[in-house]
Amino acid sequence: MTLSVDTARVSVVPDNNRPAWRAQRAILSLDDYATGVLSGDRVRLARAISLVESSNPDHQKLAQHLLIRVSPHTGRAHRIGVTGVPGVGKSTFIESFGNMLIEHGHRVAVLAVDPSSSRSGGSILGDKTRMETLANNPDAYIRPSPSSGRLGGVTRTTRETMLLMEAAGYDVILVETVGAGQNEIVVADMTDFFLVLMLPGAGDELQGIKKGVLELADLIAVNKCEGDNEQKADAARQHYANALHILTPASPNWQPPVLKISGLTGVGIAQLWERIEKHHEIFQQSGELEAIRKRQKIKWMWNLIEDKLLDAMRAHPTVKANLGEIGRQVEQGEITAPLAALELLEMFGLAARLDGSLQIS
Ligand code: GDP
Repeated sequence: MTLSVDTARVSVVPDNNRPAWRAQRAILSLDDYATGVLSGDRVRLARAISLVESSNPDHQKLAQHLLIRVSPHTGRAHRIGVTGVPGVGKSTFIESFGNMLIEHGHRVAVLAVDPSSSRSGGSILGDKTRMETLANNPDAYIRPSPSSGRLGGVTRTTRETMLLMEAAGYDVILVETVGAGQNEIVVADMTDFFLVLMLPGAGDELQGIKKGVLELADLIAVNKCEGDNEQKADAARQHYANALHILTPASPNWQPPVLKISGLTGVGIAQLWERIEKHHEIFQQSGELEAIRKRQKIKWMWNLIEDKLLDAMRAHPTVKANLGEIGRQVEQGEITAPLAALELLEMFGLAARLDGSLQIS
């Protein structure tokens, strides 16, 4: 692989636009980043993650070198996706789960994929007051992962951040996402185990839930199962168990269980971890874990290709100049969308045919 950068000497150029009142950060070399991350230095890890998130091409190249350098130290963590609607109790659960794992000797990293950060500028998951005790634990590391607003953007920075966290010695990575849109699929595509939190509802549990989420689930945890909720929770548990039963499981070796938990009281959290460990053991022994991770990497590569191609096409001067008019013609029904797509692809330099084949012109 050739990356046109002198890895021994390249370093992050200080940002000249930085306000003078802000202390300038020391320039770090590739070695500084690598040794910092591998030694678990939180400050260096944070800098490395910023490097991965940077849109500056020099930073991106350096980040790729860093990822290559640390890659032998990745892959040993449990990668767990956690999803659920806002208010289901994700942060309360993660706090209680994370603290329990740390008591058992684990080091826990939480990566919050936040779709709101790109859309509204606000942030649901990045709120510092969430998971306060976990955030202050030296064996935990919590980081919101900005979304670029596009699928590939989430995948790239989130996945790469996860790898850096693994290299820094975190052996349980929780990738949290709110139950919205495509994010769940993206998160399921970068984790080994997908945990779906649900509320104990009043008989209409299956309404309003996207069926797709159930298909992704390796375990459903009905949360807030304490006190008055107990009965409702039993009914919900039964509903989900039935719903999962009619789906074909993704693996013949794993029928996703439904557990009752309470993030608030800690009920069921230890049992949940036992199931995750069991899943890990089964999938490791069957070879599925390795196969899934390999498949995920290839899918990641294709996501990036799609992203880069689309970026390049949108930025192409002829495409850019004609996009408005062609879009108008499609809207007005003057040409069909497939023909418009072919025309734009041709402007981009690809001679496409309606049968789907493409030629580079
Ligand atoms: P998130 O939006 O999914 O991160 O949800 P939060 O963890 O912020 O919780 C939302 C609300 O539900 C808060 O008021 C929590 O105190 C409450 N909550 C969270 N977990 C539980 C639980 O296990 N039982 C009960 N009764 N309430 C909970």
